[in-house]
Amino acid sequence: MTRTIPAKQRKILVTSALPYANGSIHLGHLVEYIQTDIWVRFQKMQGHSCHYVCADDTHGTPIMLRAEKEGITPEQLIARVWQEHFDDFSAFHVNFDNYGSTNSNETREFAQGIYKKLKAENLIEVRSIEQFYDPVKNMFLPDRFIKGECPKCHAKDQYGDNCEACGAAYAPTELINPFSAVSGAKPELRNSDHYFFKLSDQRCQDFLRQWTRSDTLQAEASNKMQEWLGSADENKLSDWDISRDAPYFGFEIPDAPGKYFYVWLDAPVGYMGSFKQLCEKKGIAFDEYWKQDSDAELYHFIGKDILYFHALFWPAMLQHAGYRTPTKLFAHGFLTVNGEKMSKSRGTFITARSYVEHIKNTEYLRYYYAAKLNGSMEDLDLSLDDFVAKVNSDLIGKFINIASRTAGFISKKFDGKLAGKEQVSAAGNALMSSFIAASPVIASCYEDRDFGKAIREIMRLADQANEYVNDKAPWVLAKQEGQEAALQEACTVSLNLFRLLSLYLKPILPMLAKEVESFFNIDPLTWASAENLVLGHTINTYQHLMTRLDPKLIEGMVAANQESLQAAPQSHSPARHAEAQQHAIAPIAETISIDDFSKIDLRVAKIVNAEHVEGAEKLLKLTLDIGEEKPRTVFAGIKSAYDPEKLKGRMTVMVANLAPRKMKFGMSEGMVLAASGEAPGLFILSPDDGAQAGMRVK
Ligand SMILES: [Zn+2]
Repeated sequence: MTRTIPAKQRKILVTSALPYANGSIHLGHLVEYIQTDIWVRFQKMQGHSCHYVCADDTHGTPIMLRAEKEGITPEQLIARVWQEHFDDFSAFHVNFDNYGSTNSNETREFAQGIYKKLKAENLIEVRSIEQFYDPVKNMFLPDRFIKGECPKCHAKDQYGDNCEACGAAYAPTELINPFSAVSGAKPELRNSDHYFFKLSDQRCQDFLRQWTRSDTLQAEASNKMQEWLGSADENKLSDWDISRDAPYFGFEIPDAPGKYFYVWLDAPVGYMGSFKQLCEKKGIAFDEYWKQDSDAELYHFIGKDILYFHALFWPAMLQHAGYRTPTKLFAHGFLTVNGEKMSKSRGTFITARSYVEHIKNTEYLRYYYAAKLNGSMEDLDLSLDDFVAKVNSDLIGKFINIASRTAGFISKKFDGKLAGKEQVSAAGNALMSSFIAASPVIASCYEDRDFGKAIREIMRLADQANEYVNDKAPWVLAKQEGQEAALQEACTVSLNLFRLLSLYLKPILPMLAKEVESFFNIDPLTWASAENLVLGHTINTYQHLMTRLDPKLIEGMVAANQESLQAAPQSHSPARHAEAQQHAIAPIAETISIDDFSKIDLRVAKIVNAEHVEGAEKLLKLTLDIGEEKPRTVFAGIKSAYDPEKLKGRMTVMVANLAPRKMKFGMSEGMVLAASGEAPGLFILSPDDGAQAGMRVK
């Protein structure tokens, strides 16, 4: 047998985006961490030097305000959340080499150092800007903490940066009747000096054009970048405001007392800070990885929503501060559950902790995500029925089944000893060799992050292994006189195939692989060990490796997530309490008379059709029947919350006498009513059963 020559050992540094220290890890987050962890484990199995670092993202106004509400310091808050996050990741076997915090000395030093270099390069500029200030809380308000009426469609209770009802983007100063979401006070406009990173500088433009042309981004991401950058004679990039005024939880800007780095400046710097901590612990040379001409590879796994920060600001900062830039960004899509956005009301907003409490085995989810990941920016759907079906048919029905049908005979009849090399027939050897020969194909799927393809290949092999077991029928051989050698050979070949499949699945199922290693009594499986067949070797008694996933567990988990939402106000846990406070209702509007109210003609409407609107990010086009001769067309900003197919035939309530409004996509002849608040989600109204289209709502 030939030995494969190990490729040159690569030096690889890998990161996942930093989770914000203001909430729990949920199944949506895990798409990224599981994906990254699989890739890192694969690289380590290849024998490369691969380091995986991450950290909690801890700064900013939301952290400061939440700590204040809980009556603790921000440091206490982020320490508690760090532990929760770390435990959740560990439960899903996400194996960071270092998990730090952006609130560290290392990150502070890098952030300040980068700032000083950018300043020396003339890429920092101070400008006075006018901004909303909360006179009750004595603080400047970030856009998301200002609310008011949309200047375009007049929807109430919209954020300071964009309207969720009509999708318009605007400056907070354009809001009608703005109020502070922190205190409810009417904000005042005040001037303040802000520090800007001059992204519009020609040097940044030139660099980014070149950087995005090189092989650093997926095709979809690269197209997005071209859109942001514009053509060569355009300058579409705006300077980036990197400072915030006190009070702010973060790092003070070195030469600007009372000014702090905006949380998004030090978040990616946290990758460096966390890696620096690892270097100190393990004696790794930091500069080898971060100097401008480094031969190490640097990869960032990120969600597609933060591409802008990682593809523009981050490389431009690194480049002009004298560091290397990322080798490649790996962006991925979002998670949907059962084809829809995760929803608290449907019980599909599932936290990592809740999954662990109900399902326990986290490798099921690792397997399912892997089966669906293909290295693109497409969204990934967790269909709960399909999840159960796939785990049970692939992992239990195909994979585990190979060992559970053959291992017992080796223990009972041969004292745990597998057949020797000379006892295996040519056919058995050929089958084992074909499994070994699949190794480079599967490896290249992993390298390309096309884990779905790797799994399809592995399951194709599992089918072959099962055919072999069925064909040999060891349970029949065991009952026949004089078939001992045939029985031992069949079980030995089957178990070797099982060992190879376990090796190929090890990046995805690391805990299961560990149990397989101890069952076989062998060293940890590496990619190179594919060729080390276990022959003439004594194995341990087989213990059942994995049980079927019971659909009742899924039902229980979904029900519990619905319950926990309803139970929230009664809960005494401090986290819940803070969340409930944070989701306090918006102030009640000015009093009106009954006459004012009766001017609004509300009607029960039947949604006869609902469809997506080409090019509209937030709108659905609804056709509403209110008993008139012709149905009405209404554009509603509910795309994020509803699948149009599911709206068809539903009854709802509309404002029937609103002046028709010309929108980009056509005339909108009214408005449907929907509830929304601080908590995620958007909920259209429904009348009770029996209401007819056209009935007036009073
Ligand atoms: Zn609007």
